[in-house]
Amino acid sequence: MSRPLTATVNLDAILSNYHYAKQLHPTCKAFAVVKSNAYGHGAIPVAKHMDKDVDAFAVASIEEAVALREEGIESPILLLEGVFEDAEWTQCEQYRFWVTIENERQLHSFLKSNLEIEKVFVKLDTGMHRLGVNQDTASEYVEALRESGKVEEVLLMTHFACADDLSDLATLNQLALFEQTRQKIGDIKSSVANSAAIMKWSVPEGGWIRPGIMMYGISPFAEISGAELGLTPAMTLRSKVISVRELNAGDRVGYGFDYQAEHAHRLATIAAGYGDGYPRNAASGTPVLIAGCSGELAGRVSMDMITARLSSDSASLKMGDEVVLWGEGLPVEEVAHWSNTIGYELVTRMTTRPNFVYF
Ligand code: PLP
Repeated sequence: MSRPLTATVNLDAILSNYHYAKQLHPTCKAFAVVKSNAYGHGAIPVAKHMDKDVDAFAVASIEEAVALREEGIESPILLLEGVFEDAEWTQCEQYRFWVTIENERQLHSFLKSNLEIEKVFVKLDTGMHRLGVNQDTASEYVEALRESGKVEEVLLMTHFACADDLSDLATLNQLALFEQTRQKIGDIKSSVANSAAIMKWSVPEGGWIRPGIMMYGISPFAEISGAELGLTPAMTLRSKVISVRELNAGDRVGYGFDYQAEHAHRLATIAAGYGDGYPRNAASGTPVLIAGCSGELAGRVSMDMITARLSSDSASLKMGDEVVLWGEGLPVEEVAHWSNTIGYELVTRMTTRPNFVYF
């Protein structure tokens, strides 16, 4: 038997979550955000499955974009962070990429090139203070790009810092600043909304939305699950029990003896560890499903293995039992919560060790 750790990815679920985002904003077009290997789900298979149905894809870097084109992806692809080096402009034209411009160097290197780009998104910093330029500069960039005659359409973009926190009014402030700039410029399409904004905030219609995490069926909100939002989880991480032993009361388990049995019970060792992307800081008590029953981690996560018990009586636990680590029946958000992180990080940190199966 080969190592029984499998990540199954439901490609239709990703597509239907994408369509769900579009349904919420019928006047908008949508980027399918497939950066960082499609949040760990596999950018090539995900993009191949969606290519005929999406308005465009969005990635972080030219390397990610070129990899998609070289695999035959034909939809437009936006570079969310623009170019990092001047030489990348040539590839942008060659591969028909759409580009974000968020700083002076990017603007000037493009303007002095003799290249043409179909769509350029000028990024406005509305308060996140990570990427983008201020209001006045954004208007100047738009004007310069339009006057250059080298761009078919210039759009205005921003990104929210706290859209996942519905009680934080910073999102409204960011929106107000964005709207002010948009009105000052006049006739310009916009792109502001990530998943949280798509689902819970009012965003300008008629532009481009940018769903990422919601496409994978995962909630961006701490308090609301993907299922409650009407999303279908795309990835299920499954393994098997590869060893079983009986613990006596007082026996300790794993590195650092982090877990000590309060009473005698059966313990399962499962093939999955931080070398696969399972979070090392998942604490004892983190939920797992063993043969469909609720179980919990007992002991520290190792590189290749975790140890767990059934939450009630562990007597039925046996070698070969199927284990769900997250996905069907166990939201990744819950495992993330126990690991003091977010669903985004768990799926994105998947390594290439698990066997990926697409259906
Ligand atoms: N737009 C930009 C600029 C991003 O950086 C990201 C992801 O971080 C997204 C959209 C998608 O965000 P989310 O995954 O929260 O939908």
